[in-house]
Amino acid sequence: MSQSRLWSPAVSRLEPYVPGEQPKVLNLVKLNTNESAFAPSPRVAKALSADQIDRLRLYPDPNSTNLKMAIARHFDLQVNQVFVGNGSDEVLAHAFYAFFQQASPLLFPDITYSFYPTYCNLYGIEHERIPLADDFSLNLADYHKPNGGIIFANPNAPTGMLVGLADIRALLEHNRDSVVLVDEAYIDFGGESAVSLINEFDNVLVVHTTSKSRALAGIRLGYALGHPGLIDALDRVKNSFNSYPVDRLAELAGIASFEDDDYFQQGCADVIANREFCVEQLTKLGFDVLPSAANFVFAKPTFAPAATVFEQLRERAVLVRYFNKPRISDYLRISIGSRADMKALVAALKDIVQKG
Ligand SMILES: *Cc1c(COP(=O)(O)O)cnc(C)c1O
Repeated sequence: MSQSRLWSPAVSRLEPYVPGEQPKVLNLVKLNTNESAFAPSPRVAKALSADQIDRLRLYPDPNSTNLKMAIARHFDLQVNQVFVGNGSDEVLAHAFYAFFQQASPLLFPDITYSFYPTYCNLYGIEHERIPLADDFSLNLADYHKPNGGIIFANPNAPTGMLVGLADIRALLEHNRDSVVLVDEAYIDFGGESAVSLINEFDNVLVVHTTSKSRALAGIRLGYALGHPGLIDALDRVKNSFNSYPVDRLAELAGIASFEDDDYFQQGCADVIANREFCVEQLTKLGFDVLPSAANFVFAKPTFAPAATVFEQLRERAVLVRYFNKPRISDYLRISIGSRADMKALVAALKDIVQKG
């Protein structure tokens, strides 16, 4: 007999998020989960000293105050405007619980980060998907309607397309009584952050991750920035769930990363340069590439179906992401790697195009 008879009834109704594959073999060109191609700041390794390993017998600071101070300093905010969690996925989950369980539906784009509908399902949150335009642009005027909250990723995932700060400001001026959550996982690769709107609007929450632009996906560290009254709600949820979401090593690594701004800026600039190289090469090879402000591109091969090219790349040890979903099944999402990774991708694609 199936053990699902032992489950809470709600578990059978869950629709879990499926992350990109993390293959065990190492000699792959891995361009499928938008990780950084570069190592974290050398200061991170220094911060994780043997002395700190000894202290792992002790619980971490439940409030992660030193880390919040480093983040607040970086963004010129107060400590009580910062919330930290075990990856931005956890921060997002707490935000869904804290703000979006409302009488009116949560609004988000039809094509976006697929964890949003997953959290709605987990918490039973009513939601409405607003279609992106035919060219995949996000028109925030479409969100001027009654709602129990609004969430969008900027730049969007998996399109990489950016919406401007003026449009976000216009939305906030129109929408003052529900939380507008801007998921800025990729903002450091060319966008203008909505953090500048936090002191003006008490209902904007900006969520960031250290997984992409800070090359720390392995430590699981994300954060939210917003009015202290919003941070208070997140703290209430967090302290009802897990008192110590950020472990000692993650806190130290995070602080070290925020203290090395030169390294951070250089890493982002390198990703942007490699993205420009990649876009140029893909265009030459016959891809339609959407304008990207992220550390990945969303591109449609015109010489063969995307699903076929995905498989052919895989056979050549290059892993990208393919979504067999309405509207986007003709596209591949390709993470921006090192220059050598990008050259390996181009060589594999040339081989595919030649052999037909
Ligand atoms: C990668 C990503 C996240 C999750 O980041 P973690 O901090 O690694 O959990 C959140 N939102 C979007 C849009 C992402 O692409």
